[in-house]
Amino acid sequence: MRKKKPVEFEVADAKELKLVCIAYEAIQKIRILTANKIDGTADAYHIPKKRVAKLHELFDVKLKEQEKSLIPLLNSYGSIHPVWVEWLSHVKGIGPVLWASMLSIIQDINRFPTISKMYAYFGLSSMYYKCECAEGHKHLMMHDPIDRKDLCNVLKDDKGHKCNAKFTNVEKVEHKAPHRTAGYIVHWNPTAKTLAWKTANTLFMCGGKYKTQIFDHYKEKIAASNKDMPKMHIHNRALRKLAKIFLSHLWTKWRELEGLPADKPYSVAYKGEEYIAPIIDD
Ligand SMILES: [Zn+2]
Repeated sequence: MRKKKPVEFEVADAKELKLVCIAYEAIQKIRILTANKIDGTADAYHIPKKRVAKLHELFDVKLKEQEKSLIPLLNSYGSIHPVWVEWLSHVKGIGPVLWASMLSIIQDINRFPTISKMYAYFGLSSMYYKCECAEGHKHLMMHDPIDRKDLCNVLKDDKGHKCNAKFTNVEKVEHKAPHRTAGYIVHWNPTAKTLAWKTANTLFMCGGKYKTQIFDHYKEKIAASNKDMPKMHIHNRALRKLAKIFLSHLWTKWRELEGLPADKPYSVAYKGEEYIAPIIDD
């Protein structure tokens, strides 16, 4: 039997994992950019495909190897995590890289005492606040800053001094998902939001039970109650629902495995929405 190659570096915690994820994503970004630029320019210069393939081997194929060499590091922490062992390793579509990204972003499930707090962090809430401080800084916030006596956190100089002005103008926007808007500082984590959409897309593409039992179900429901809605819009709404349900499952499983209280989402507990338990494919 072939011996498994030992991992060069054992990731000790979620913070170290974050560093490995940053490296992985940075290499991936450069690899894709390199490949695209080579192709684009080679086309314009009419360079023969064979020659171009050789250049790909020298540049982006090597970067791909670099990228791959980081997977055992990502795995060294992710694969022993109880959420992976007990649940996610049995969900079609969630691989070690995607799981490592989630782990490195969430780090500690204690940060989110309620599922709504997690939705807010991932930019998946259905309401937000358009706010302005006395100095005119504009924010899209996930809670009412006047209620919480929050002060404006915009940096005023490079010494770390903050604006600290009170919020004077707050408008609550309901039944609408927040989006990046020019001139506004956002109070969700854009990386987390991208990851949530990427996860939903992957679950959809893989066609496992998250697609057949959740996405398809909601797509039908949304289409039935919005007869004139464009198909793409229905698809995106169902995908958003899939992202939220998957996140709620992740939150519940993770908290249960750590012995923390895990209440059902507000929409299930108080609004009579159906409860769907975490799903496994095998
Ligand atoms: Zn301000």
